[in-house]
Amino acid sequence: MEELNVFAMAQRQFDESARILELDNSIRGVLRVPKREIVVNIPVRMDDGTLRIFLGFRVQYNDAKGPTKGGIRFHPLETIDTVRALAAWMTWKCAVVDIPLGGAKGGIICDPKVLSQGELERLSRGYVQAVWPLIGPEKDIPAPDVYTNPQIMAWMMDEYSRLSGMNQFGVITGKPLQVGGTKGRIDATARGGMFALREAAEVLGLELEKATVAVQGFGNAGYYAAHLCRDMFGSRIVAVSDSGGGAYNKEGLLPEALYEYKAKSATVSGFPECRQISNEELLELDVDVLIPAALENVINEENSCRINARIVAELANGPTTPEADSVLHERGVHVIPDFLCNAGGVTVSYFEMVQNFSMYYWEEEEINLQLDKKMTAAYHSVYNASREMGIHMRHAAYVVSVKRVIEAMKLRGWI
Ligand code: GLU
Repeated sequence: MEELNVFAMAQRQFDESARILELDNSIRGVLRVPKREIVVNIPVRMDDGTLRIFLGFRVQYNDAKGPTKGGIRFHPLETIDTVRALAAWMTWKCAVVDIPLGGAKGGIICDPKVLSQGELERLSRGYVQAVWPLIGPEKDIPAPDVYTNPQIMAWMMDEYSRLSGMNQFGVITGKPLQVGGTKGRIDATARGGMFALREAAEVLGLELEKATVAVQGFGNAGYYAAHLCRDMFGSRIVAVSDSGGGAYNKEGLLPEALYEYKAKSATVSGFPECRQISNEELLELDVDVLIPAALENVINEENSCRINARIVAELANGPTTPEADSVLHERGVHVIPDFLCNAGGVTVSYFEMVQNFSMYYWEEEEINLQLDKKMTAAYHSVYNASREMGIHMRHAAYVVSVKRVIEAMKLRGWI
């Protein structure tokens, strides 16, 4: 299969919504490309004394609704196009939950699994040194994403604070609790997805307490999704997978036991009393709910006709290609599109910023309650648009978000 350029895919999705909204060409032109792209070379002293250069990116897509916001990924296969696509999706994500932020994304080409803690710290600080004039609590606020974590956020916040000569907790979110982090951030992406799933199940008449669930990906999003699906609804998790392969048991799996197993064996594959399955097999299982929670492009032209789930809740960014979207729609699969389903992470990041600005920290119940309100409202605005306009859920999500961004741009006199 042809290598997929995810930015081309994000642009195709946007073009489709522009067609539905009958946008004129000048507005389309502004919204289908990023506002600003930063490319940096970061010199890092390695443990063996050599100096290595790492290539890093920050793409600030659109800031009409507020300062730009979005995670930083550390990945060996990172490209500027992936970062562009993810920055565009952040713009639509913040708009769909209606928080006062624009969209951005960052990335560094590196393999964090082979870097020592010292090297990781120097790389993280080096990235901030390279981009610091262009980020800030009122400009652009990074956060964790694939292979970055709260410790990395703490180093980055510290470096930015050092350069500014004062504590600047609000420059980054997803920080540890002791240095301006918020309660509820660690499982926020998955929890937000569960609130959206609950609403989808309700409109479709699916009983989640009897539902079977398969989760692809067992990182921060995937693990908490499996855990919360069982904990909140009593659903049966029949399969999970990660980059090392998958485990299937039709009687159900305990996510917490899988987590412990993965901590020792580095993968869930080989978990006792399970059939070992591949990632491809997991996607095609006959389950009620499928949760792709890993990387892009896993549901595509080739396998979309074999997806058997009733609901696909996309916790990953970009797991489904536009061709697959049409096939799933025709086959009656209800997709909760990525930038709606996984908006819980950035929503709680926004709550973290609010707490940093006000210097007053909320209880976890309050966070989860406010998150529920945001996700429930966002789900229904998309679902209603999809019903009213007779379009599938991804197009509907775009329509809702693009309209909100355009309204802000018009009010500011940009277009
Ligand atoms: N990286 C997460 C996402 O893709 C969270 C971004 C944030 O909290 O700013 O939504």
